[in-house]
Amino acid sequence: MSKVKVGINGYGTIGKRVAAAVSKQEDMEISGVTKTRPTFEAQTALDMGFDLYVPEGSLKAFGSAGMPVKGTIKDLYKAAEIIVDCTPGDVGETYKAEYEAAGIKAIFQGGEDHSLTGISFNSTANYSESWGAQFSRVVSCNTTGLLRTLFPIDRKIKVTNVYATLVRRAADPGDSKSGPINGLEPIVKLPTHHGPDVKSVMPWLNINTMAIKASTTLMHLHTVTAELQKESSTEEILEIMRASPRVKLIKSGSGLKGTAEIMELGKDLGRDRSDMYEVVVWEDGVKAVGRMLYYYQAVHQESDVVPENVDCIRSMCKLEEDACASVSKTNKALGIVR
Ligand code: NAD
Repeated sequence: MSKVKVGINGYGTIGKRVAAAVSKQEDMEISGVTKTRPTFEAQTALDMGFDLYVPEGSLKAFGSAGMPVKGTIKDLYKAAEIIVDCTPGDVGETYKAEYEAAGIKAIFQGGEDHSLTGISFNSTANYSESWGAQFSRVVSCNTTGLLRTLFPIDRKIKVTNVYATLVRRAADPGDSKSGPINGLEPIVKLPTHHGPDVKSVMPWLNINTMAIKASTTLMHLHTVTAELQKESSTEEILEIMRASPRVKLIKSGSGLKGTAEIMELGKDLGRDRSDMYEVVVWEDGVKAVGRMLYYYQAVHQESDVVPENVDCIRSMCKLEEDACASVSKTNKALGIVR
């Protein structure tokens, strides 16, 4: 079987993880990645065996740094069948006209607006909506985490209202430029954009969100309060979560008290870069009381969208019609086991 050729535009936090994840699949391969400057990440990409494509204006800098380049970013459009655009937020949209002109498919990330593509993607909730599409957008890390738990609960027991507070990591671990160093910053423009982002996939859901930036780099933590259409029980909710893809139930009592221990678990599981692809829910912190449901979940911002990008490639390139089958293939290749 010939493999679908995937190009990565923007080999940063998300791009390098998607490149590694694609390389592990049987039905797709990396045809090249882009870098704008000859940094250590560009060298690592070469060391991993990826071909480098760079902006025309950067060819000289890569030459001076002694880093072999396969071509310009526009040359990558000829070598690949689909681009996963992992450039910083709002930069992706500047590439859309180029992808359109080259007639190539492209996946954008959560830093772009839903209106850029008109389709936003989540593997469990709407895999088939991106079937054969030229453009789609994998929603942000927080939205992916919320959809992973809310969609299966809504499918079994209708959810009438959701109020969620997102305690957000201030910066990624490798980012030395941004974030509060010692403090908490509320996002005062309410409700925050996260609720509407969830609605880009579940338009019928009443959800409102608040957010606080915290001086941590490890993970985000959500507190979710959901009003259900009918009374439920904690055990019924846990059963739904246990059966949901990429939801990992943990117990605080087992020592997994917070995000630090969850990242340690990622290391112990031998995951690439100690990534935790699943949304992590504290089983002993789930509580259903009548029609009200309360739970906490943690989101590894650097990696939870990675398997969704792989599934989105399968849907857009018509590699696998069945969402569950794609999720299983991706999970197996990435070592996501229950
Ligand atoms: P990043 O800054 O770590 O990586 C972006 C990469 O794009 C870098 O390698 C940078 O050199 C490159 N780049 C910058 N300008 C470019 C240009 N004009 N052309 C080509 N490449 C360019 O960013 P990231 O965290 O990986 O975020 C990428 C996207 O993923 C954003 O839309 C972001 O919102 C989304 N996202 C990020 C996270 C996260 O927590 N890091 C989580 C989910 C989704």
